[in-house]
Amino acid sequence: MSVRHVVVVGGSTAGATTMRELRGRGYEGRITLLDPEDGTNRPPLSKAVLADPGNDATVGMDHRGLDVEHVRGAAVGLDPSARVVIAEDGERHHYDALVVASGARARRIAAPGQRGEAVLRTLADARRLRERLTTAARVIVVGGGFLGMEVATAAARAGAEVTVVDVEAPLRRHLGPYLADLLVARAAAIGIGFRRSAVRLHADPVSGVELDDGTVLHADVVVSCVGDLPETGWLGTSAAVTAHGVLVDRAARTAVPHVWGAGDVTCHAQGGSARRRPFWANAVTQGRVAAASILGLPIDAPIVDDYFWTDVAGTPLKAVGRLPPGGAPRVLEDAGGGDGVLAWGDEAVVAVGVRRPAPRLRRMLSELGQQKPPA
Ligand SMILES: Cc1cc2nc3c(=O)[nH]c(=O)nc-3n(C[C@H](O)[C@H](O)[C@H](O)COP(=O)(O)OP(=O)(O)OC[C@H]3O[C@@H](n4cnc5c(N)ncnc54)[C@H](O)[C@@H]3O)c2cc1C
Repeated sequence: MSVRHVVVVGGSTAGATTMRELRGRGYEGRITLLDPEDGTNRPPLSKAVLADPGNDATVGMDHRGLDVEHVRGAAVGLDPSARVVIAEDGERHHYDALVVASGARARRIAAPGQRGEAVLRTLADARRLRERLTTAARVIVVGGGFLGMEVATAAARAGAEVTVVDVEAPLRRHLGPYLADLLVARAAAIGIGFRRSAVRLHADPVSGVELDDGTVLHADVVVSCVGDLPETGWLGTSAAVTAHGVLVDRAARTAVPHVWGAGDVTCHAQGGSARRRPFWANAVTQGRVAAASILGLPIDAPIVDDYFWTDVAGTPLKAVGRLPPGGAPRVLEDAGGGDGVLAWGDEAVVAVGVRRPAPRLRRMLSELGQQKPPA
């Protein structure tokens, strides 16, 4: 069937990349985008935007020049047999190909009705949090993943006394012990404190957290950075949806004919189970794969990309390859004081505390693979 109308639900990184890629590869048919907003490039929200209101204007997506009909409303339903997406105003949008790129929302831990929990997913969240940080003396960040550590950095720089509370050692699950310990030490050096515990948010409105042992830590702001949940509600009981999100194959296809998925809303089969990888590079690569697949072109990229970056306590980190790395690294470039470019066998190359372009790190990783003696 020739594709003459692509409907994209969600116009942020994954959806915008799909649309750009469709046009870039010569698609001249209709594209309809459903999104109540313009779309947001989220990584700067916890970095540049929390630090400076001057950066607010830099995160919006620009769909001009793509010849896209932008319907400013949410998708609320899917009728796969009629190949129709239903918008919140009741309008039915027929598609030849549908791209589900509705992303994710912040997971919250507040009890029903409990007010005052801060999260960071949207530009509005970032603005609210930045405003609260201007007067906060004490801040608690629940969750020591990369987002929690970036928020803790921003809060410490705003002058607050900051404590990160997590049941696990911060950053270890994603970055492994060597890199996690290095970044946690840098965070401790700018005054960020750490506690290991599960928490319950304390009081209404929230004014702290209660730890496992009953201790209450008080704070002016409590920010939950405890992961995100895929935005699948509008898909109802569609076969595209699993407990982990919209399951896609190597060509970004879902189980439903004519429906593709890309970005944070998706999950992928891995080792007999489904796994989400909600990172920017995956949203980009999956947008590209979805576009190629819709147009019947060869798929020239893996469905999961291996590039990740963060910036904690003034230490930028860029990684390509398989994370988390185990054991001690080999130092490829030594910039002193633990900074430099590090390699874990031919599995991962990581720039810590020094800025190196991702393509250069990828080249280094590929050269390490070529140096490896054949098995
Ligand atoms: C604060 C923050 C910092 C981050 N920093 C990094 C980082 O340093 N490195 C990194 O690799 N990754 C980072 N990430 C992750 C990265 O930003 C995400 O992987 C990426 O934004 C996913 O893009 P997406 O388009 O799939 O989803 P989203 O960005 O969530 O976009 C989904 C879009 O769908 C729209 N939508 C939702 N529901 C509907 C509906 N029913 N109908 C119509 N439209 C809908 C939304 O309005 C939104 O525009 C960060 C994420 C956050 C929140």
